[in-house]
Amino acid sequence: MKDTFTHKGMRKRLVETLRAKGIANVAVLEAINKVPRHWFMDSGFLDHAYTDKAFPIAADQTISQPYTVARQTELLEVNAGDKVLEIGTGSGYQSAVLLEMGIAVYTIERQNELFKKTSLALPKMGYRPKKMIFGDGYKGLEEFAPYDGIVVTAGAPYVPKPLLAQLKVGGKLVIPIGEPVQIMTVFTRKSATEFEKTEHGEFRFVPMLEDKN
Ligand code: SAH
Repeated sequence: MKDTFTHKGMRKRLVETLRAKGIANVAVLEAINKVPRHWFMDSGFLDHAYTDKAFPIAADQTISQPYTVARQTELLEVNAGDKVLEIGTGSGYQSAVLLEMGIAVYTIERQNELFKKTSLALPKMGYRPKKMIFGDGYKGLEEFAPYDGIVVTAGAPYVPKPLLAQLKVGGKLVIPIGEPVQIMTVFTRKSATEFEKTEHGEFRFVPMLEDKN
Protein backbone atom coordinates (compact mmCIF):
# COMPACT_ATOMS: atom_id res chain seq x y z
CA MET A 1 0.00 0.00 0.00
CA LYS A 2 1.48 3.26 -1.13
CA ASP A 3 1.27 6.70 0.35
CA THR A 4 2.86 9.06 -2.17
CA PHE A 5 3.54 12.80 -2.23
CA THR A 6 0.36 13.17 -4.29
CA HIS A 7 -1.67 11.47 -1.54
CA LYS A 8 0.00 13.57 1.14
CA GLY A 9 -0.69 16.75 -0.82
CA MET A 10 -4.37 15.83 -1.27
CA ARG A 11 -4.58 15.12 2.45
CA LYS A 12 -3.12 18.51 3.37
CA ARG A 13 -5.83 20.16 1.31
CA LEU A 14 -8.47 18.03 3.03
CA VAL A 15 -7.14 19.16 6.41
CA GLU A 16 -7.38 22.79 5.29
CA THR A 17 -10.99 22.18 4.22
CA LEU A 18 -11.80 20.73 7.66
CA ARG A 19 -10.12 23.67 9.39
CA ALA A 20 -12.18 26.05 7.26
CA LYS A 21 -15.33 24.15 8.26
CA GLY A 22 -14.53 24.79 11.92
CA ILE A 23 -12.45 21.86 13.20
CA ALA A 24 -10.03 23.48 15.65
CA ASN A 25 -8.48 20.60 17.62
CA VAL A 26 -4.87 20.38 16.42
CA ALA A 27 -4.37 16.75 17.50
CA VAL A 28 -7.42 15.75 15.44
CA LEU A 29 -6.25 17.66 12.36
CA GLU A 30 -2.76 16.16 12.68
CA ALA A 31 -4.18 12.64 12.91
CA ILE A 32 -6.29 13.20 9.77
CA ASN A 33 -3.19 14.53 8.06
CA LYS A 34 -1.39 11.27 8.88
CA VAL A 35 -3.97 8.56 8.10
CA PRO A 36 -3.93 7.46 4.43
CA ARG A 37 -7.72 7.48 3.92
CA HIS A 38 -7.32 5.96 0.42
CA TRP A 39 -6.17 2.70 2.09
CA PHE A 40 -9.66 2.36 3.59
CA MET A 41 -11.45 2.48 0.24
CA ASP A 42 -11.29 0.12 -2.71
CA SER A 43 -8.55 1.18 -5.09
CA GLY A 44 -9.86 3.11 -8.05
CA PHE A 45 -11.63 5.57 -5.80
CA LEU A 46 -8.54 7.63 -5.12
CA ASP A 47 -10.14 10.86 -6.30
CA HIS A 48 -12.88 10.37 -3.71
CA ALA A 49 -10.58 9.51 -0.80
CA TYR A 50 -9.62 13.12 -0.12
CA THR A 51 -12.86 14.91 -0.81
CA ASP A 52 -15.00 15.67 2.22
CA LYS A 53 -17.63 13.03 1.45
CA ALA A 54 -18.88 9.72 2.84
CA PHE A 55 -18.29 6.78 0.50
CA PRO A 56 -19.63 3.20 0.11
CA ILE A 57 -17.48 0.39 1.51
CA ALA A 58 -18.41 -3.32 1.75
CA ALA A 59 -21.77 -4.70 2.95
CA ASP A 60 -23.85 -1.59 2.11
CA GLN A 61 -22.00 0.48 4.70
CA THR A 62 -20.07 3.74 4.35
CA ILE A 63 -16.80 5.25 5.46
CA SER A 64 -17.94 8.38 7.29
CA GLN A 65 -17.33 11.82 5.82
CA PRO A 66 -13.96 13.22 7.02
CA TYR A 67 -15.71 16.23 8.60
CA THR A 68 -17.96 13.89 10.58
CA VAL A 69 -15.00 11.81 11.80
CA ALA A 70 -13.11 14.98 12.75
CA ARG A 71 -16.13 16.49 14.54
CA GLN A 72 -16.97 13.34 16.50
CA THR A 73 -13.32 12.91 17.50
CA GLU A 74 -13.11 16.55 18.59
CA LEU A 75 -16.32 16.22 20.63
CA LEU A 76 -14.87 13.23 22.51
CA GLU A 77 -12.27 15.59 24.05
CA VAL A 78 -9.79 12.77 24.61
CA ASN A 79 -6.01 12.81 24.88
CA ALA A 80 -3.16 10.38 24.26
CA GLY A 81 -3.37 7.46 26.69
CA ASP A 82 -7.16 7.67 27.06
CA LYS A 83 -9.43 4.68 26.42
CA VAL A 84 -12.15 4.95 23.76
CA LEU A 85 -14.88 2.53 22.72
CA GLU A 86 -16.08 2.86 19.13
CA ILE A 87 -19.42 1.39 17.99
CA GLY A 88 -19.31 0.62 14.24
CA THR A 89 -15.77 -0.26 13.13
CA GLY A 90 -16.77 -0.16 9.45
CA SER A 91 -13.69 0.52 7.34
CA GLY A 92 -11.56 1.16 10.43
CA TYR A 93 -10.84 4.77 9.43
CA GLN A 94 -12.21 6.33 12.63
CA SER A 95 -10.20 3.78 14.66
CA ALA A 96 -7.04 4.72 12.77
CA VAL A 97 -7.57 8.44 13.47
CA LEU A 98 -7.94 7.70 17.20
CA LEU A 99 -4.89 5.40 17.17
CA GLU A 100 -2.80 8.16 15.54
CA MET A 101 -3.76 10.33 18.52
CA GLY A 102 -2.33 7.73 20.92
CA ILE A 103 -5.74 6.53 22.12
CA ALA A 104 -6.31 2.94 23.31
CA VAL A 105 -9.11 1.86 20.95
CA TYR A 106 -11.78 -0.80 21.53
CA THR A 107 -14.10 -1.19 18.56
CA ILE A 108 -17.22 -3.24 17.80
CA GLU A 109 -18.77 -4.17 14.44
CA ARG A 110 -22.02 -6.11 13.94
CA GLN A 111 -21.54 -6.91 10.24
CA ASN A 112 -19.49 -10.10 9.94
CA GLU A 113 -18.16 -9.49 6.43
CA LEU A 114 -16.87 -6.04 7.39
CA PHE A 115 -15.56 -7.25 10.73
CA LYS A 116 -13.44 -9.93 9.03
CA LYS A 117 -12.18 -7.60 6.33
CA THR A 118 -11.25 -4.74 8.66
CA SER A 119 -9.75 -6.88 11.42
CA LEU A 120 -7.27 -8.20 8.86
CA ALA A 121 -6.66 -4.89 7.08
CA LEU A 122 -6.01 -2.56 10.06
CA PRO A 123 -3.00 -4.42 11.54
CA LYS A 124 -1.50 -4.69 8.04
CA MET A 125 -1.55 -0.90 7.89
CA GLY A 126 0.16 -0.76 11.28
CA TYR A 127 -3.03 0.19 13.18
CA ARG A 128 -3.62 -1.99 16.23
CA PRO A 129 -6.73 -1.43 18.33
CA LYS A 130 -6.61 -3.03 21.80
CA LYS A 131 -9.68 -5.06 20.80
CA MET A 132 -11.74 -5.53 17.65
CA ILE A 133 -14.97 -7.29 18.53
CA PHE A 134 -17.69 -8.87 16.39
CA GLY A 135 -20.81 -8.05 18.35
CA ASP A 136 -23.74 -5.78 19.05
CA GLY A 137 -22.76 -2.26 20.00
CA TYR A 138 -26.08 -1.63 21.79
CA LYS A 139 -24.55 -3.59 24.68
CA GLY A 140 -21.25 -1.72 24.66
CA LEU A 141 -18.23 -3.69 25.91
CA GLU A 142 -18.61 -4.18 29.63
CA GLU A 143 -15.47 -6.29 29.97
CA PHE A 144 -13.10 -3.33 29.43
CA ALA A 145 -15.28 -0.54 30.87
CA PRO A 146 -15.17 2.22 32.02
CA TYR A 147 -14.10 4.37 29.04
CA ASP A 148 -12.93 7.99 28.76
CA GLY A 149 -15.02 8.26 25.63
CA ILE A 150 -17.52 6.28 23.56
CA VAL A 151 -18.21 7.18 19.94
CA VAL A 152 -21.15 5.75 18.00
CA THR A 153 -20.61 5.93 14.23
CA ALA A 154 -24.09 4.77 13.15
CA GLY A 155 -27.41 6.59 13.55
CA ALA A 156 -29.06 5.48 16.79
CA PRO A 157 -32.86 5.59 17.27
CA TYR A 158 -32.32 6.08 21.05
CA VAL A 159 -29.48 6.17 23.60
CA PRO A 160 -28.47 2.65 24.63
CA LYS A 161 -28.32 2.62 28.45
CA PRO A 162 -25.24 0.35 28.68
CA LEU A 163 -23.18 2.97 26.82
CA LEU A 164 -23.95 5.60 29.47
CA ALA A 165 -23.22 3.07 32.22
CA GLN A 166 -19.79 2.26 30.73
CA LEU A 167 -18.49 5.88 30.83
CA LYS A 168 -16.00 7.09 33.42
CA VAL A 169 -17.07 10.13 35.43
CA GLY A 170 -15.93 13.01 33.21
CA GLY A 171 -16.17 10.80 30.11
CA LYS A 172 -18.26 11.59 27.03
CA LEU A 173 -20.62 9.60 24.83
CA VAL A 174 -20.77 11.07 21.30
CA ILE A 175 -23.83 9.67 19.55
CA PRO A 176 -25.91 10.73 16.53
CA ILE A 177 -29.56 10.28 17.51
CA GLY A 178 -32.73 10.29 15.41
CA GLU A 179 -34.35 9.08 12.19
CA PRO A 180 -33.94 9.79 9.28
CA VAL A 181 -31.69 12.71 10.26
CA GLN A 182 -29.56 12.53 13.38
CA ILE A 183 -28.67 15.21 15.91
CA MET A 184 -25.08 14.84 17.08
CA THR A 185 -25.52 14.52 20.83
CA VAL A 186 -22.93 14.47 23.62
CA PHE A 187 -23.59 13.08 27.10
CA THR A 188 -20.96 13.99 29.70
CA ARG A 189 -20.97 11.90 32.84
CA LYS A 190 -20.99 14.29 35.79
CA SER A 191 -21.32 11.67 38.56
CA ALA A 192 -22.50 8.10 39.07
CA THR A 193 -26.06 9.22 38.35
CA GLU A 194 -25.87 12.58 36.50
CA PHE A 195 -25.30 13.28 32.81
CA GLU A 196 -25.16 16.58 30.96
CA LYS A 197 -26.53 16.61 27.41
CA THR A 198 -25.46 18.97 24.59
CA GLU A 199 -26.45 19.00 20.89
CA HIS A 200 -24.18 19.74 17.91
CA GLY A 201 -26.17 19.91 14.69
CA GLU A 202 -27.58 17.56 12.07
CA PHE A 203 -25.78 14.63 10.46
CA ARG A 204 -26.75 11.61 8.36
CA PHE A 205 -25.51 8.12 9.22
CA VAL A 206 -26.30 4.55 8.18
CA PRO A 207 -28.61 3.06 10.84
CA MET A 208 -27.43 1.46 14.06
CA LEU A 209 -29.03 -2.00 13.89
CA GLU A 210 -29.83 -4.42 16.70
CA ASP A 211 -27.95 -7.74 17.03
CA LYS A 212 -25.25 -9.04 14.74
CA ASN A 213 -25.34 -10.94 11.46
N1 SAH B 1 -16.48 4.21 11.87
C1 SAH B 1 -16.70 3.73 10.52
C2 SAH B 1 -18.07 4.15 10.02
C3 SAH B 1 -18.80 2.98 9.46
S1 SAH B 1 -20.51 3.19 9.13
C4 SAH B 1 -15.59 4.18 9.59
O1 SAH B 1 -14.75 5.00 10.01
O2 SAH B 1 -15.53 3.69 8.47
C5 SAH B 1 -21.26 2.52 10.59
C6 SAH B 1 -20.92 1.09 10.96
O3 SAH B 1 -21.68 0.75 12.11
C7 SAH B 1 -21.26 0.06 9.89
O4 SAH B 1 -20.12 -0.70 9.59
C8 SAH B 1 -22.35 -0.81 10.57
O5 SAH B 1 -22.31 -2.16 10.20
C9 SAH B 1 -22.01 -0.62 12.03
N2 SAH B 1 -23.10 -0.89 12.98
C10 SAH B 1 -24.43 -0.62 12.83
N3 SAH B 1 -25.12 -1.02 13.93
C11 SAH B 1 -24.20 -1.55 14.81
C12 SAH B 1 -24.28 -2.14 16.11
N4 SAH B 1 -25.45 -2.30 16.75
N5 SAH B 1 -23.13 -2.57 16.68
C13 SAH B 1 -21.94 -2.44 16.06
N6 SAH B 1 -21.80 -1.90 14.83
C14 SAH B 1 -22.91 -1.45 14.19
